Amino acid sequence: MLKKVVIVGAGLGGLAVAIALRRQGIDAQIYEKTRKIRHIGAALSLFPNGLNALETIAPGLVVSLKALGSQIHDINVRKSSGELIVHNRVNLIERYNQPMLNIRWSCLRETLASALTPDVIHFNYELVNFQQNDNGVKIYFDNGEAVKADLLIGADGINSTIRQILIGDGSPRYCGSMSWRAVIKYQHCLLRPNGITIMTGTDGKVFTLWDVGSGYIFWGAGALSADVSLSDSASIAKYRVLEKFAGWANPVEDIVKATASKEIIERPICDRHQLTSWSNGRVTLLGDAAHAMMPTLGQGANMAFEDAWELSQFLAHEPTIKAALASYENKRIYRTQVAQARCALQAWIQRTRSYDPNSEIFLPGVIEQAQVSHSEFEDWIYNYTPLEISQI
Ligand SMILES: Cc1cc2nc3c(=O)[nH]c(=O)nc-3n(C[C@H](O)[C@H](O)[C@H](O)COP(=O)(O)OP(=O)(O)OC[C@H]3O[C@@H](n4cnc5c(N)ncnc54)[C@H](O)[C@@H]3O)c2cc1C
Repeated sequence: MLKKVVIVGAGLGGLAVAIALRRQGIDAQIYEKTRKIRHIGAALSLFPNGLNALETIAPGLVVSLKALGSQIHDINVRKSSGELIVHNRVNLIERYNQPMLNIRWSCLRETLASALTPDVIHFNYELVNFQQNDNGVKIYFDNGEAVKADLLIGADGINSTIRQILIGDGSPRYCGSMSWRAVIKYQHCLLRPNGITIMTGTDGKVFTLWDVGSGYIFWGAGALSADVSLSDSASIAKYRVLEKFAGWANPVEDIVKATASKEIIERPICDRHQLTSWSNGRVTLLGDAAHAMMPTLGQGANMAFEDAWELSQFLAHEPTIKAALASYENKRIYRTQVAQARCALQAWIQRTRSYDPNSEIFLPGVIEQAQVSHSEFEDWIYNYTPLEISQI
């Protein structure tokens, strides 16, 4: 009988699965290594599949998120000189009844956390080990404390300690590019409400600007790099972006200059090898710990929300933990593997083109072609309907 679940990690996936389980009457407690909610991202895009999962987990939550974020209607692709290459209308709402919603990370994480009572999240607990037997799982933390539970969910992100203990498949895989991201209150004539601007260079560099609501703009810079090392300080990271994107049309240089160095998040782009199983006994994985993917399609968090809903359904309705985890893996592994592969493929297409000196001219064709072959995939990914267990 499942009474107590320990979730390690108060990231987007950990918070979502805690909400889902507690709504099923299961005592789910989160243990998080940081001292408070820390915003490790700047902003992200939510898509119809992730929004549908969230709305099923906590009815009304998506309405709150829509009020905080920006529903995207237009994407403009420009050369690094600023010249417009192509304008695309985003019609997800017409096709899937949910928008592409861009939102600040802090808003999303705080909205999820506010759906839980504060006593559910235990800060300053870094998991260092666990042991399990037929009666339960004991979880050990760096502060010397230990807790017992019927089930342990590893929602501890791409560098998951639980995955390392459970599977031991090493570190995340570096995908060959570095990213820098920030959110800032900013205005510029090219930055329209409900819009995204993607500026692209000939050498694998890309600079994106998104409206994320409430007057905030997200900017993200990406560049191919053999060097995976992080800058020694925040100001060096800022200098690195300015150097890499020198000469690009505004607002690139101005928005980076206007951003406080400490707000810039520098991170190598990594993913994880695909797994054929991610549970053992009373321990399972969720979100990036299970299936971290490249951000090319913005699906990592969306997939974590799908995981959260389905795992909660199986745990609430299957007769045993073993049966629930088998059903969870059965339902999630194939879908997340396809998403991981598609993200890597999309990145490869973009990268191959970017080595071409004429890639700025080729880009409209690439986008058009990608969208033709992409539409079936979009139907498959966005038409996700969170089912009740009786329908699964
Ligand atoms: C550049 C970039 C852009 C992205 N854009 C998008 C996007 O637009 N849309 C989208 O859906 N996804 C996007 N993603 C992916 C998304 O950020 C992740 O998939 C998502 O955050 C994963 O959530 P998670 O809960 O699994 O892990 P995380 O959010 O990483 O949370 C893990 C939590 O576990 C805690 N933790 C770690 N180890 C321990 C331990 N030992 N003990 C206790 N606590 C621990 C951490 O402190 C953290 O709070 C992007 C990723 C990147 C890098």
